Amino acid sequence: MKLVNMNLEVRIYPSKRDKNDFGEKIVNFTKIDSNMGHCRFIWNKELEFINNFKKLLLTHGYQDYVIINKKSCNVLLNMLKSDNPFLSESESSSRQQVQIDLITAFERYENNDLPSQYPRFKTLKNPKNSFRIINNNNNVRIQKDKNGYDKIRLAKLGIIKFKTTKKYKRLLKKGTDKNDPTVKIKHVTVKKVYDKYYAVFNIECIRIPEKISGPKQQVGIDIGCSKLAVLSNKQEIANLDLEKETRMIIRYQKRMSHHQKGSVRYLEAQRLYRKWMTRLVNKRNDYYDCATKRIVENCSFIAVQNENIIFWKKNKHLSRNLQLNAPRIFMDKLEYKSQWNNVEFVKVPKRFPSTQICNKCGEQNINIKGLKKLKIRNWRCPNCGTQHDRDINASINILKKGLQLIVGTTVQ
Ligand SMILES: [Zn+2]
Repeated sequence: MKLVNMNLEVRIYPSKRDKNDFGEKIVNFTKIDSNMGHCRFIWNKELEFINNFKKLLLTHGYQDYVIINKKSCNVLLNMLKSDNPFLSESESSSRQQVQIDLITAFERYENNDLPSQYPRFKTLKNPKNSFRIINNNNNVRIQKDKNGYDKIRLAKLGIIKFKTTKKYKRLLKKGTDKNDPTVKIKHVTVKKVYDKYYAVFNIECIRIPEKISGPKQQVGIDIGCSKLAVLSNKQEIANLDLEKETRMIIRYQKRMSHHQKGSVRYLEAQRLYRKWMTRLVNKRNDYYDCATKRIVENCSFIAVQNENIIFWKKNKHLSRNLQLNAPRIFMDKLEYKSQWNNVEFVKVPKRFPSTQICNKCGEQNINIKGLKKLKIRNWRCPNCGTQHDRDINASINILKKGLQLIVGTTVQ
């Protein structure tokens, strides 16, 4: 038994009307879109104010150090609200939450250990099509409308139709029940992806890990470009074939660029482009979910090298394959799945030269160092003469290093 936080995404269907036949408030498109707009407005205005204030300090010869916390931002928010009365139409906790996001953005920027950049304005090209509502006093819940159908209640905004499986509906109903302490809805994020709307519930619940039958192995995983991953037990996970999807995406992107923006032909091309884009993402997610589940089910220990994927992306020969087969998503899925199933998961540091070391004698072979030598798939150790497969050798080294790290932490 384990207390976990999980996210549950359900599709929601806003209506065109304001109220249903019984006079209940329904969430419509304009309400959701305007709430997203208000959040964006608050972010931009507060950021603008902070930027201007910093400039003012600099021009008068002071350091541009401004304390940005909840207290100082609340003053800004109150000012904005009195100047712009339309802001009161949006859900109050969503206004607070976007401000908290801005504060964390600044905190991350000021933390030197993180590579975060200065917060940017939300624009058409850098949009923010979401808002978050905190569940206070059960104001986010599942309730029956007067027709007898289950609907989501989104605090002040009203009720809204949704779709999900029976299992998850039961979970959400448990979350709304006050007498059931095992499941709790913490907050909900409403987001818009292309033309579809989703609600992402953050749920705190008790999870019992599934009992895993079968032999348990210790596995090191080498993430590569030509293959998605190579395990130390000589298993290979091939890259997904996404040729058709990319061909169609390129075709409709081209077609979009050849027509006038906003015209009928442009919109049709855009619709098809979005369709193929979502298909690609869904296909990849499904494949990764299956692959990672299979690995986690059969293992008791997993070691992965925390590869420098951003560095790889700069190489033009590797980047196309990487864009299609996102190895970072694969790694993240592997991490959270192993946490859920109580499998030990270790990240080996980036600097560890896993490909160059011979796993038999430990000699480092510098001849295969660097991206140019990526062609060499097999090599013979100059010290002991063993023939190595590049990826399998690397994965064995990663496993050894990972086990070492685990022992090192327990000794301390
Ligand atoms: Zn050797």
